[in-house]
Amino acid sequence: MSVSVRDALRMSALYLVLSVMWLVLSDQILSNLFDDPAQLARWELINAYAWMGCSAALIFVSRWRLLNFIGVGARLRREDRERLRMAAAVFDSTLEGVLVSDRDGLIVHVNRAFMQITGYQKDEVLGQRPSKFKSGRHDTAFYQQIFATLAEKGEWSGEIWNRRKNGEIYPQWQTICAIHDDSGQLTHYVAVFSDISAIKHTERELAHLVHHDPLTDLPNRLLFNDRVKQTLAAAQANKRGCALLLLDLDHFQSINDSLGHNTGDQLLKAVSERLLAQLGTGMTLARLGGDEFAVLSENCAQVGQAAALAQGIIDCLKEPFELDHHRLFTSVSIGISLFPSDALSAEQLLRNADSALFKAKGNGRSGYALYTEELTAHAQQRVETAGELRRALEQQELRVYYQPVHDLLTGAMIGVEALVRWQHPERGLVPPGEFIPIAERTGLIAEIDTWVMRQACQQMVQWQAEGKALRFVAVNVSSRLFGKRSLYQLVAQVLHDTGLDPARLEVEVTESAVMEDPEVALEQLHRLRELGLQLAIDDFGTGYSSLLRLKRLPVQKLKIDQGFVAGLPHDDDDVAIVRVIIALARSMGMQIQAEGIEEAEQARFLLEQQCDMGQGYWYGRPVPAQQLRWS
Ligand code: C2E
Ligand code: MG
Ligand code: MG
Repeated sequence: MSVSVRDALRMSALYLVLSVMWLVLSDQILSNLFDDPAQLARWELINAYAWMGCSAALIFVSRWRLLNFIGVGARLRREDRERLRMAAAVFDSTLEGVLVSDRDGLIVHVNRAFMQITGYQKDEVLGQRPSKFKSGRHDTAFYQQIFATLAEKGEWSGEIWNRRKNGEIYPQWQTICAIHDDSGQLTHYVAVFSDISAIKHTERELAHLVHHDPLTDLPNRLLFNDRVKQTLAAAQANKRGCALLLLDLDHFQSINDSLGHNTGDQLLKAVSERLLAQLGTGMTLARLGGDEFAVLSENCAQVGQAAALAQGIIDCLKEPFELDHHRLFTSVSIGISLFPSDALSAEQLLRNADSALFKAKGNGRSGYALYTEELTAHAQQRVETAGELRRALEQQELRVYYQPVHDLLTGAMIGVEALVRWQHPERGLVPPGEFIPIAERTGLIAEIDTWVMRQACQQMVQWQAEGKALRFVAVNVSSRLFGKRSLYQLVAQVLHDTGLDPARLEVEVTESAVMEDPEVALEQLHRLRELGLQLAIDDFGTGYSSLLRLKRLPVQKLKIDQGFVAGLPHDDDDVAIVRVIIALARSMGMQIQAEGIEEAEQARFLLEQQCDMGQGYWYGRPVPAQQLRWS
C-alpha cells in the first residue's frame, strides 16, 4: 500500500516539474522563433492548448491510477482484516491451548484455552519462558531432543507432562512448529497442545477393566498369569521360592442353584473380601472365573509355609457368611504347586496346581493337596504339629534343659545355656530343631521364647539362693522375635517378675538375625543393653557378617558355631577360620565362646588360641536343672 502512495506522489512531483519546464522552455523557444507579436500570440495560444491537453491527460491518468489504487487498497484491507479477525476467533475459541514464543523463547502470545488448561492468566506468562511449566518428569535429554528435532525438521509432536498453576502435573499432547520469515530467518515458535489427562484416565479405566474381575475387582486370569511370570523371573534372580495356590469353593453350584445367582455373587464378593483380609503382603489374590480363586505367594521357600498358608485360608472360610437374609457356610479345596521344586514356568506351575486341586477335591473336600504326593503327607504332619504345639504350651509339655558352659583355662562351670525341649506324649522328647521353625511361622515363638526365658531366670534366682555360683544363664531369642520392638518390653517384664539381676542374663541372637536388618538390630540391641543384660551373637561364622557393622553392635560375646569346632584341630580351613574369629573378637574387646566341643584336644587347641570359654558334650550335654553336676 505504501508503495502505491509513493507512486502517486512521485507522479504529481514529476507533473509539476514537467509543467514548469514546459512553460519556461516553450516561452523561450516561441519568443526566439517568432518576432511578429501576432504570430507569437497565436503560437502561445496553441502551446497553452497543448499544455492543457497534456496536463488533462496526465491528471486523468494519475487520478485514474490513484482512484484505482485507493479502491483496490480498501478492498484488500477489508479482506485482510476479515481474515485476521477470523484467525483470531479460531485462535481464541479453539479447545487446544496455543502458545507463541519469539525466537529467544519468550512467550509473546497465549490463547484462552491455554489459560483454562494451565490456570495461568495472560499477564502472568507473557515475557516468560515455557520452562515455567516444567513438571520435573522429563530429564534434560528429553528437552534437548525436542529442540534437535525442531532444528532439523521444523516440527515436533509428542506427549509431554507439564505443571498447572495449582501444582498439578498433567499430560498433554503437543505440537511445536518453528516459524520462519521470507528470508528463512527463525522468528517464532508456535506450540499447540491438548490436555490428555482425561484420555489417560479412560485408558487406565479400560486397562483396569481388561485386567480385573468386575464383580470382586480382583485381578483376573490375564493379569494373574502376567504376575506369575514376573514373580517367577524375580524369584529366579533372587533365588527365592514361590507358591501358587488354586482355590475352588466346595458345592458353590448348589448355592447358585438353590438361592439364585444374586446370592451366589454376594457370597463370591464376601469370600474375596475375607481372603484379602487374611492374606498378608507379598501375596496376590485373583479370581480366575466362577468360584475359582488363586493365590500367589512371592516368598514361600518351604512346603510347610505353603501348607500353613492353605490351612489358614481353609480355616478363615469356615466361619459363616452373613449375607442379606442368609447365613451361609462354605468350604474350599486348595491345590498347591511350588516354584522351583514342582515347576519352573508359570504355565506349568498353574497346571500342577490344577492337578493338585483335583487331588484335593478327590481326597474329600475342605482340604489341600500338594502337587507332590509325599510332600502332602509331610506338610500335613507339620500343620498338625502347629496345632499340637499350641496345645503343648497350654498343657505345659515344654521343658527347659541346661547345658553347662566352662572356663577353658580353669575348667570350672561358669554358666549355662537354656535349651527348650518338647516332652511329647507319644513322640517322646522332641528337639527344638523340629518345632522351633513351626513356632516361628505360626507366631507361637514369642510365647515359647518368653516362657523359656521366664523359666531360666526363675531357675537362676533359685540357684543363687542355694549358693550355687554361676556367672550367667543364656537364653536364645528367635530372629522372628528379634525383629519385633515388643521384645524389649517382654524381657523387661520377665526380669521384673523374676527379680533376677539383669547382669546374670545373657541373650543370644543368631548372626543371621542381626544381619537380616542391621539397623533394626542395632536399635534393638541397644535397648536390650540398656536393661543391663549381656548380649551374645550365636552361631557366629555362618551369617556373613559385615565386620564394620559388627563393630558398632553393643555385644559382649561371640559364640563360634559348632560347625567350625568340629574340624579342630586337624582341618586347616576350620583352624584358619577359628583363629580369625578369635582375633577379630579380641580386637573388638569381646569375649569368645566355642560351641560343640566334643573332644579334649578341641578344648586344648581353643585354649591355645586364647578362646575364653566353651560348651559341648565333652563338658556336658543339655540336661534338666536337677541333673546338672556341680563340682
Ligand atoms: P544353639 O543355640 O546353637 O544351641 C546349641 C545346640 O548345639 C544345642 O542343640 C545343643 O544341644 C547342641 N550341642 C551342644 N553341644 C554339642 C556338641 O558337643 N555336639 C553337638 N553335635 N551338638 C551340641 P539343640 O538343643 O538341639 O538346639 C538347637 C538350636 O535350637 C539352638 O542352637 C537354638 O538355636 C535353638 N533353640 C534351642 N532352644 C531355643 C529356645 O528356647 N528359643 C529359641 N528361639 N531357639 C532355641
Ligand atoms: Mg544358642
Ligand atoms: Mg549356636
